[in-house]
Amino acid sequence: MSTSIFTQIINKEIPADIIYEDNDVIAFLDIAPNNPGHTLVVPKQDTLTILTATDNQLEAIIRIVKKITPFILESVGATDFNLHVNNGSIAGQVVPHLHFHIIPRFINDGLKHWHGTGTSPQKDRKQLAFDIRGKIKKLNQDL
Ligand code: 5GP
Repeated sequence: MSTSIFTQIINKEIPADIIYEDNDVIAFLDIAPNNPGHTLVVPKQDTLTILTATDNQLEAIIRIVKKITPFILESVGATDFNLHVNNGSIAGQVVPHLHFHIIPRFINDGLKHWHGTGTSPQKDRKQLAFDIRGKIKKLNQDL
């Protein structure tokens, strides 16, 4: 049984404007684009986020993003783009099937740029970096 709308697109149960497809990855135009050429790149094997995806899935997606993006940009007359992933519903993920957004950008297109806002408290940053480094070090030892 289909688990998400993207699985239905992969299985050709519902239509989509597919621009690329191979054994592992499919790319199609977003139904509600932020800009012309807004594309979703999706692993065919269902997984929720970057953290649940296999390394092979992620490599395949990034490889295809790099290959197809120049053609998307050329088609809409853009040179720059955002590559965006919402991981989990709190982060804004609506469709529970991993997907990378390729969003061509235009001067004064009205979309927000994502930058650090400085609104999170800074004072514990050194301690936090220490804690995270410790955990990553342990991960490296376990590998
Ligand atoms: P999310 O918020 O999960 O990262 O983004 C989901 C994206 O999927 C949205 O940009 C939305 O417009 C797009 N989308 C949702 N349903 C469909 C659909 O049936 N077809 C296509 N092509 N895009 C969809």
